[in-house]
Amino acid sequence: MATIMIVEDEQAIALLLKYNLEKAGYDTITVSHGNRVLSSVEKNLPSLILLDWMLPEISGLELCKIIRNNPDLKNIPIIMLTAKGQEEDKVIGLSAGADDYVTKPFSVPELLARIKTNLRRVSTTTAPVKKEYTFQDITLNMVEKKVFRGENYVRVGPTEFRILQLLISNPRQVFSRKDLLKEIWGNSIYVELRTVDVHIRRLRKVLNEFGPDYIRTIRATGYSLDDHEIEEEPVVKAEE
Ligand code: CA
Repeated sequence: MATIMIVEDEQAIALLLKYNLEKAGYDTITVSHGNRVLSSVEKNLPSLILLDWMLPEISGLELCKIIRNNPDLKNIPIIMLTAKGQEEDKVIGLSAGADDYVTKPFSVPELLARIKTNLRRVSTTTAPVKKEYTFQDITLNMVEKKVFRGENYVRVGPTEFRILQLLISNPRQVFSRKDLLKEIWGNSIYVELRTVDVHIRRLRKVLNEFGPDYIRTIRATGYSLDDHEIEEEPVVKAEE
């Protein structure tokens, strides 16, 4: 679940936000001092920041610029919260690098909708990627783009790497062939569903040289990475 950082010095508003965001299923971190924001962002890497414009020590605007200029943090979406409602202020806020702008007093459903939109956008484009993913003995090193099983280096092709990245970052979640096609190839009309099976087969082949098969084929549904004891269905054979 996404973690939202609330940067707000007015306690009543901070609490209202915290309450509503947690009710909506988000984890929250509240920071009330402007000069603690940067270290907390670096430490917690929130999925999104709600940033109050008027803070005592350093303005939200300044913080926004600082975060945008930090290569590790620049992709975190920022929604500026402010009492300033002038069109001019909005332009300043957005040009400082804010992704969105909500004026106080705000409506909670509207704010939640904006959060959702901004989170969705980032998840499909520029979400900060983890440096490493692991599942059982499988390790995906995102920096070197390498796969290991235990100590063994597993040579995988670029498409298999992306499939594995998707599966390993969502363990036990079942992806249909259609989902995989969309996530890995985009909406290319030139790729057929059975192509997914071909790449899964290649991925299995190289991975399973060094350990048990954790890729589950769920008949008529798709694939997942799963270590639970479930009965494995045979791969549905595509007509050649
Ligand atoms: Ca304030």
